[in-house]
Amino acid sequence: MQKKSVVNEAEQIQLAMQMIELGARLQLLESQTTLSRERLIKLYKEMKGVSPPKGMLPFSTDWFLTWQPNIHSSIFYNIYRFMVEYAGVDGIQAIIKAYTLYMQQVQNPDPAQQDEPVLSLTRAWTLVRFIESKMLTTKVCHCCGGQYIVNSYDLNQNYVCNLCHVPSRAGKTKKAKELSYKLVSMTA
Ligand SMILES: [Zn+2]
Repeated sequence: MQKKSVVNEAEQIQLAMQMIELGARLQLLESQTTLSRERLIKLYKEMKGVSPPKGMLPFSTDWFLTWQPNIHSSIFYNIYRFMVEYAGVDGIQAIIKAYTLYMQQVQNPDPAQQDEPVLSLTRAWTLVRFIESKMLTTKVCHCCGGQYIVNSYDLNQNYVCNLCHVPSRAGKTKKAKELSYKLVSMTA
């Protein structure tokens, strides 16, 4: 049991605020800070002006394997792994840092043109947990050399990624090509 001190509490509030700023759900805040649910709800309301959304966290691995989410998840995870290996951070701090960089990579720099990011912070955290529990893993694409999120239970021999093998409904958009370039330059 961690000793309760004013400094520790201030750090916990700081961490919670950082996560709320990045769009964290209540369950994520509860699992990564020592603050009570009541305090977290109060903090959330104070910052966002509304109550935190209710409902369960996404718990299926399927989402991470669908076309567009897979590309975004792969970009995030490549940054996260780099953070853990070379920047000396881990746990939620590595997730927060990697997520901030992911947002910089995929979001329009013009605030007026920014939409909700494809991958939310809560999903990014869930992804790391799925990989740690070996439900998901990464695989190198034979075609472009990028590292992508795949299902651990699939064979994935001669794996070809979602950008090199685009389903016809998705189309090879300019945006997809840009993302592909970013991902390959990150992992090469
Ligand atoms: Zn590829």
